[in-house]
Amino acid sequence: MSAAVPPPADPAAAGEMAREAAAWCALHGLVVGDRADPRSGTVPGVGLVHAPFSLLPAHLPETFWKQACELAPIFNELVDRVSLDGNFLQDSLSKTRQVDDFTSRLLEIHRKMMEINKEENIRLGLHRSDYMLDSETSSLLQIELNTISTSFPGLGPLVSELHRTLINQYGRVLSLEPKRVPGNAASSKFAEALARAWTEFDVDSAIVMMIVQPEERNMYDQYWITKYLKESHGITTIRKTLTQVEAEGHVLPDGTLLVDGKKVAVVYYRAGYTPNDYPSEAEWSARLLIEQSSSVKCPSISYQLVGTKRIQQELANPNVLERFLENKEDIAKLRKCFAGLWSLDDEEIIKTAIEKPELFVLKPQREGGGNNIYGLDLRETLTRLQKEGGDALAAYILMQRIFPKASLAYLVRGGICHEGLVISELGIYGSYLRSKDKVITNDQCGYLMRTKVSSSDEGGVAAGFAVLDSLYLT
Ligand code: ADP
Ligand code: MG
Ligand code: MG
Repeated sequence: MSAAVPPPADPAAAGEMAREAAAWCALHGLVVGDRADPRSGTVPGVGLVHAPFSLLPAHLPETFWKQACELAPIFNELVDRVSLDGNFLQDSLSKTRQVDDFTSRLLEIHRKMMEINKEENIRLGLHRSDYMLDSETSSLLQIELNTISTSFPGLGPLVSELHRTLINQYGRVLSLEPKRVPGNAASSKFAEALARAWTEFDVDSAIVMMIVQPEERNMYDQYWITKYLKESHGITTIRKTLTQVEAEGHVLPDGTLLVDGKKVAVVYYRAGYTPNDYPSEAEWSARLLIEQSSSVKCPSISYQLVGTKRIQQELANPNVLERFLENKEDIAKLRKCFAGLWSLDDEEIIKTAIEKPELFVLKPQREGGGNNIYGLDLRETLTRLQKEGGDALAAYILMQRIFPKASLAYLVRGGICHEGLVISELGIYGSYLRSKDKVITNDQCGYLMRTKVSSSDEGGVAAGFAVLDSLYLT
């Protein structure tokens, strides 16, 4: 992640490579809906553009790659353990609930499930743990763990394939070897985990229901999963918004969720992680309905809550991991990748952050990119919230700012190739499936590299800050 591959010295050669690469994207389904076409988010096959990508993979020393892969099954296990401790989730988020309506609504559903002792016998997690390489300490530090709607398992593997193809073609000139781009099977592995959950559910006529946003320009990423479910496992996927689930869904007395007359084995959320996905009470009742049903939820409400920033911060406090994991080596491995994390009831750290805002990131309880606060805004926000008093600060956590080393790379967006100073963020996908006492799957399953110009604070690809990338092991 430090130094990207030295780009072809000649910008004209880079431009030619970018054109070939963009054509490859179109031929292989490495595409997203084009903002310029108003129908591109609702009508499949209309208004496509190649996904933004980095022309060549980002360099990463193999030791960090191995470290990140090793962490995946440990985080998977941790999420499962923490999800079973309802009181821990409720208590840790109790202050957040008072100032953050969205988290409060999620907690309300969670509390209802606790009251009826709802048990999830089949538990499926499709996570992605994100990291940056801190240049000061030369260590791999976790940015966050995503437990809901982790994006790009579909397109990520295609970027690895694109980079291998380009290196095959241009490798000699570039002094690169294709085998140093690790294989990436995120899409087929995610589909496999969903299929295994479907098998555990054990109703032949049942389907997988993907919860989607009404407008989704990243739909092809999702359709890759649908394709593998059908072609490799013979399982049908339906796409529904939460609004549609409310209108078309009900739960039978035995717990079976029926939507549009179909029995739902697995609910796979690719929406539901932001307040925008719940514009009215209808969407909240759909969420509650699903939670009450016997369908496998990916994720369940408790898995989703484990992925909040506040829980990430709580787990980094002394002696908290020990409550959930026994293996001391596993605990040490997790701790090693934790950056500094603080809740805002610590006056001392607030003072430090106001003095040196450039060393911190202020994070609200949100997902999807574009929400964090940096630099002078951070100072101003903290000063204002502190003056206001009350619990307003509980809506945020503070995090040590990680500084990856910047390097030069070519980024291609909308058919235009730009050279820039960039930094990268490595995501490792993990799949976890448990049926009662049996762990069926607990794996690392592919990766996603995202690269952005180093002057940009935020990182989302869909949000328009970053491009898709793969990695080159050194
Ligand atoms: P989200 O759930 O919205 O993706 P993240 O915690 O991943 O929230 O933050 C969004 C982006 O902000 C990240 O992709 C990364 O680029 C940047 N970022 C987050 N935390 C840090 C940090 N501690 N240091 C540097 N950059 C960060
Ligand atoms: Mg996130
Ligand atoms: Mg993120």
